[in-house]
Amino acid sequence: MKKYLAILILPVVILASCKGKTEQKDEDMEKQFKEFVVKHEAAVKPVYKDMCDAYFVASISGKEEDYKRSAELELELTKIYTNKEDFEFLKKAKESGKIKDPILLRELEVLYNSYLSNQADPKMLEEMINMSSEIEMQYSLFRATVNGKTLSDNDIEEILSTSTKSAEVELAWTEVKKIGPIVSDEIIALVKKRNELAVSLGFNNYHEMSLKLSDQDPEEIEKIFDELDDLTRDSFAELKGEIDDYLAKKFNIKKEDLRPWHYQNRFFQEAPKIYEIDLDSYYKDQNIEKLTIDYFASIGLDITDMVAKSDLYEKEGKNQHAYCIDVDRAGDIRVLCNIKPNYNWMNTMLHEYGHAVYNKYIDRNLPFALIDPAHTFTTEAIAMLFGRMGSNAQWMQDMLGISDQEKEKIRIDGFNSLRLEQLVFSRWAQVMYRFEKSMYENPDQDLNKLWWDLVEEYQMLTRPEGRDMPDWATKVHIATSPCYYHNYLLGELLASQLNYYISTNICKSNDFNMQSYYNNKEVGKFLIEKVFKPGASLYWNDMIKNATGEELTAKYYALQFVD
Ligand SMILES: [Zn+2]
Repeated sequence: MKKYLAILILPVVILASCKGKTEQKDEDMEKQFKEFVVKHEAAVKPVYKDMCDAYFVASISGKEEDYKRSAELELELTKIYTNKEDFEFLKKAKESGKIKDPILLRELEVLYNSYLSNQADPKMLEEMINMSSEIEMQYSLFRATVNGKTLSDNDIEEILSTSTKSAEVELAWTEVKKIGPIVSDEIIALVKKRNELAVSLGFNNYHEMSLKLSDQDPEEIEKIFDELDDLTRDSFAELKGEIDDYLAKKFNIKKEDLRPWHYQNRFFQEAPKIYEIDLDSYYKDQNIEKLTIDYFASIGLDITDMVAKSDLYEKEGKNQHAYCIDVDRAGDIRVLCNIKPNYNWMNTMLHEYGHAVYNKYIDRNLPFALIDPAHTFTTEAIAMLFGRMGSNAQWMQDMLGISDQEKEKIRIDGFNSLRLEQLVFSRWAQVMYRFEKSMYENPDQDLNKLWWDLVEEYQMLTRPEGRDMPDWATKVHIATSPCYYHNYLLGELLASQLNYYISTNICKSNDFNMQSYYNNKEVGKFLIEKVFKPGASLYWNDMIKNATGEELTAKYYALQFVD
């Protein structure tokens, strides 16, 4: 590595005589940086590709040796970013202010952040990985016991959503919350360790570090969450009243006696099923794969090449979820799904190929580090935008040929359930975001109280009398995917903002809840040019402003889902 730095310094001397001194130094730094990038890419690209390929193979085979290989390659890739001399060079380049070319500057920022998060004491990093996997194991080993029977999370969710007996749901809820005290002390220790790491890298706490290193200004995120809180509070209160009426009737109790266990879900993060709607029946005889291909083709986005590389149906030992992976940032993009002919998989296929088209159309002439979506939440937004189509009445008519009568029924019921889903999720995301922020600011405060204060304020639930338990620790994301949850909500906001823009400006309609974009190739063109192509070469809010004329705002989400 030392040798490499020496080579970089050489051109400074040779070229120094032909230009003005300052101008010259700018060019030198840019030149050095470009040379750094050539070396860096040569090291990263092959490992990155092998790692992604190994991960895909492992998640299909389910074999331990495949997972092991994938983890080894991940470690090998991470190692590149722990290099101290490389980081010092990037720091020098950043502090010099001499990198002026906008693409190089973005690349420098992205690389700097990737290296910075890996500069902590390796012993500390290892300790954190061990603590985290210990906690993760506790979660996966834990099973609630109800009346002597061991129940999985799915069993508990089943009881919570179908039972009509208060005592039964209360027992199921109370038992499943017993994971809290098992892991809470370890989580607090991990939170403090994460804070220690953040402080060692110059941040106030881990929450602030996570946001800043992922290109998010904590104040800007706070502003958006406050804006969304204002916009959704009254509508949510009204819908919550409807939910309470329904649940009080279901359990045959008074509204004021409703407690968190009555809301059909461990966290009230999903909407209780208060509307009658059966979307599955529309998909049971459909070819989900073909619908996905045909739909994207109709808006000018070809996914056939990516479908050919994908693994879309169930297999023994295969990962049961779904994801999209860009293996080499050069066209090898694959999706993993487990398609069944139902609504959920229609939504999921549209979602995953939303991610896939984003990656496919990023300008491949960009530097490797920038051949990536502008932010994880911007690709989530595209995925959500298309995923929502699965319950869109106009889309279902265009793609499935349903009658006008059916369309009208889905339009009303489908929209009502989507709206309920969105508002319930948005209030839950407020709790998650605000809890994590406050917890990392002060992990020694009364977290049990903080959790229920936030649940009461944002989800408008009534806390169980006298309960002083670490119920916050029952949400696995707090331990294992820290400071990430808010991105799901930002994705939903951007999906609504893009839908509004496309409906109004490209489909030329003000009925923005009923646009399928079907057969409108201008939609694909707009997404390619304004959203996909720039990749990470634009800061996410610049991309959004460039595409829609406005920075990210909660306004259009509210317009879509709030009266
Ligand atoms: Zn996604």
